[in-house]
Amino acid sequence: MTSHFNCIIIGAGISGITAAIYLKRANINVLLLEKEMPGGQINKTYKIENYPGFSSIDGPTLAQNLYDQIKQLEIDYRYGNVETIKIKDNQKVIKTDIGEYTCDYLIIATGRVPRKLNIENEQKLIGHGISYCAICDGSFFKDETVAVIGGGNSALEEALYLSNICKKVIVLYRKDNLRADQILQDQAKEKENIEIRYNSVPTKFIEENNQLSGIEINNTKILKVSGAFIYIGYEPNNEILKDLLLEYEDNYIIVNQKMETNIDGIYACGDIIKKDLYQLTTATSEGAIAAMSIKHKISENQ
Ligand code: NDP
Repeated sequence: MTSHFNCIIIGAGISGITAAIYLKRANINVLLLEKEMPGGQINKTYKIENYPGFSSIDGPTLAQNLYDQIKQLEIDYRYGNVETIKIKDNQKVIKTDIGEYTCDYLIIATGRVPRKLNIENEQKLIGHGISYCAICDGSFFKDETVAVIGGGNSALEEALYLSNICKKVIVLYRKDNLRADQILQDQAKEKENIEIRYNSVPTKFIEENNQLSGIEINNTKILKVSGAFIYIGYEPNNEILKDLLLEYEDNYIIVNQKMETNIDGIYACGDIIKKDLYQLTTATSEGAIAAMSIKHKISENQ
């Protein structure tokens, strides 16, 4: 049987959850669908120090707070994997592995997934030394030497996290001038067990007994490490959207100031949209705007 909702939100990262909170408080019949853990990328973030109201909070705690708020407001939250999204008679039909749902308004808040290096043995050694989440897997490398690949805020934040667990953290950066905020660079410099190697391009992961044993750098020398954490940015999570004729720029969904996409009744917010700043603060703001735009649309049509 197909259940109908005024609004369905796909993705329970901070943007989707914010939209759900605003819609529920406006008494709109909303369903929040998520295939992994509520909180999205926040669950994989060690420390958040630029979210107003919290001078410092760890990601999983903020995610738990968000989940508690969903429960408190009795928001209909379901664990389900969206397979297809189609439009039929002006309604959006969402097919998932737990059933089919329809809605008048859809909010896409599917976020982004970590970018891969796409070098030899990367795919094969995921979970065997290669990880995209220091907070999830860092403890497997206690007192060992690991590499963090990348030069942005994520790479340095996670290198700082790993430096409290591992014997040594070597940051491999492909250029000679880190992209990360100066405050993170200063913190990393203060850590004796963090070393930054510039002009270092990983060209191959070395495998021994189905486990990572090193990284080939610049097609020449081998760096011996037991773990490699890849933080080289993200790709928009738009796989499930292929049946919709959405407008994109660089694979990110284009929205207007009301978070409306080019398709009537379909909104998008958070890291899946094309924008200048990918932050928790911007994601929450966009979630609120998408929700209130829908509320106004519903009021106009009544
Ligand atoms: P970024 O896109 O900022 O950085 C990615 C890094 O990976 C860059 O240094 C880039 O190098 C490098 N890189 C990209 N592709 C490759 C490749 N194929 N091989 C080797 N290196 C590669 O991603 P982040 O995840 O760090 O951050 C994403 C967004 O989230 C940013 O806007 C960031 O500011 C924000 N963020 C903010 C935080 C905060 O405010 N505390 C915390 C974490 C993220 P190059 O510099 O040469 O392009």
